[in-house]
Amino acid sequence: MPLGKSHVIGIVTALSDHPTRSTKPIKDILDAAPILTTDLLKLASWLSDYYHHPIGSVYAALIPTLARRGNPTEFEPPLIWIAVGKSTPTSLDRAPRQRRLWESLSSTGPVTTDEARKLGATLPLLRKLEQRGAIVSQVERADYRISPSDIKPTSEQTAAIRAITANLDQFGVHTLYGVTGSGKTEVYLRVIENALKQGKQALVLVPEIALTPQTTARFVERFGAAGVIHSAESDRERFRTWARVASGEHQILIGTRSAIFSNFRDLGVIVVDEEHDPSFKQTEGLRYSARDVAVIRAQMLGIPCVLGSATPSLETLANVDRKRYSMARISVRPGSRKMPTFRVVDIRGERLNGGLSEPLLTVMRQHLNNNAQVLVFINRRGYAPTLCCSRCGWRAECDACDVRLTLHQSPKLLQCHHCLRRYPTPSTCPECASEEIVALGAGTQRVEQTLKTEFPDVPTLRVDRDTTRSQTQLQNLFSTLTNPSRRILVGTQMLAKGHHLPNVTLVAVVNADNGFLSPDFRGPERTAQLITQVAGRAGRAERPGEVWIQSYDPANPNLVALTEYGYDGFTKTEMQHRRLAQLPPFTVMAMLRADASNSNESETFLLQLLAIVATFDIEALGPVTAPLARKSGRFRHQALLVSRRRSEIQRALEAVESKVPSQNSVRWSIDVDPIDTF
Ligand code: ADP
Ligand code: ZN
Ligand code: ZN
Repeated sequence: MPLGKSHVIGIVTALSDHPTRSTKPIKDILDAAPILTTDLLKLASWLSDYYHHPIGSVYAALIPTLARRGNPTEFEPPLIWIAVGKSTPTSLDRAPRQRRLWESLSSTGPVTTDEARKLGATLPLLRKLEQRGAIVSQVERADYRISPSDIKPTSEQTAAIRAITANLDQFGVHTLYGVTGSGKTEVYLRVIENALKQGKQALVLVPEIALTPQTTARFVERFGAAGVIHSAESDRERFRTWARVASGEHQILIGTRSAIFSNFRDLGVIVVDEEHDPSFKQTEGLRYSARDVAVIRAQMLGIPCVLGSATPSLETLANVDRKRYSMARISVRPGSRKMPTFRVVDIRGERLNGGLSEPLLTVMRQHLNNNAQVLVFINRRGYAPTLCCSRCGWRAECDACDVRLTLHQSPKLLQCHHCLRRYPTPSTCPECASEEIVALGAGTQRVEQTLKTEFPDVPTLRVDRDTTRSQTQLQNLFSTLTNPSRRILVGTQMLAKGHHLPNVTLVAVVNADNGFLSPDFRGPERTAQLITQVAGRAGRAERPGEVWIQSYDPANPNLVALTEYGYDGFTKTEMQHRRLAQLPPFTVMAMLRADASNSNESETFLLQLLAIVATFDIEALGPVTAPLARKSGRFRHQALLVSRRRSEIQRALEAVESKVPSQNSVRWSIDVDPIDTF
């Protein structure tokens, strides 16, 4: 429709019989069918109200990029290309490009157009080969069928499956609390099977890192096909999956966060796997929690939502306590695999070797001598957290952010983990010119180096964001992980998820203190989850695992509760602490953030917002400088709103939105249910 001198793409959300003077004509209707169905429109309006985000931007977040640019949402069905014949057709003798392509296609077998492009094909080239009769194309159809499974569910699994499938036609949130490897996925598969048999679709949300080919493979094995949406896909691939879900061709969609906004024809169940995972929360733009939106969407559709985890979030456990969610537990692993035992290593006064204590190295040696794998978990990538001058105390910091730079070894450089700027490593101190520049602390690269020196004959594999930049690297990684020749695995939280590593008998946690003593109130929860998850990678029936945790604070109540009573013990003490300290899930929070090129401006702006909320029954903390006080050259402030009543926070935020002072140098945002608050 016309707007000023140009034309814009708009979304029709309602119709009226009474045009006004500002009513503009619609020039063209792009989509044959509504791109946002009634249920998505309803969801959009909930999102806009709840997260205090402009409705227009919410629509934009719900529609795939390609459709937003004006592509009609009807789309070409995906094709697969198949080489004809056994030897290179002689007709291609004088067309070397076509010939090479035919040879590639002949060796790969049937490929999609996208896969063919990766082999150097273009659509015209493929069409030419097709005209010559050298290849044929077929419309690729998702081929769903239900294969029988030879797994016999345990009694706990059966109880969970029954509880959910008996209520497939109504809303309910079913928490599935089962230790790692206890067979939660088997429960999802059975529940989905029931939904499919009723002609309904299923959505499975998984954390960013967990979406591996192995994850999808289990669904494809059982159901013949599955649609997949993740962040590494091109707009075209996403759009295609989106359209196939909308048409109902895809009966199952597996995806990360944003898959919750997909346009289903008839959704029957939503599964959120690893519901505690922080990657379900979007931290910019529309700051939604995909887990919470899943619950709302299930409620709007009157269908069940399954929240699965080995370490449920305190929010979810509180909802179980309040009887809003039901809970099924799986406490034993099939085949009686034992849970690992914990051991805390007091490292006060110990001399550390690249972050590792002597007792830890000794126990590692024992396990390696027994031909087992050892997993070393460390929460920091890079070589060392920082570089400093031992003469004058100078520390390497980012020019644009108020943070220390992380030292990397290969390639050798200093990097800011916030704005990703890189700096060369100085050989002398920029302040006092001394040559005594030392690396402080230990990151994955340094621990890896120490291990290579200590165990020169043992192959080591490092896993962190630096070694898994590309999708291919990530995929290779997961197959290498289970390869028993890589005896030591060193890595960050990427190692904590997804994979069961039966040959690992020792998990070493290099440092748990940073997490348990983190200024963010969710630090202990996240640390307990990570340690439990990483511990869950280890051991099998005949070889139970051990978990050793190094700590400068071995009497820390969180650490003691976790190591003596497991995640259950941890949540009990932590829940009590949250109640006493009036923290979520016993209160509701919203964060106001502002940044400006001038420090005063962002602070003053937040003070104005806090004046607006002063009349409500909420506690306002701040404004304070953000934990990262300066990022990419802009000064950042934040203020936290806390209340016992959600309605009060919501009304206060509405007041903020309607009375916000006009200005244009400050960027600001509202974050409802923030996950980072310090
Ligand atoms: P989770 O999702 O809880 O981590 P999985 O569903 O991946 O656990 O199960 C772990 C392993 O146990 C898988 O190899 C799975 O095939 C197997 N398994 C699950 N349920 C059973 C069962 N009832 N009997 C035997 N093996 C099972
Ligand atoms: Zn110096
Ligand atoms: Zn920076």
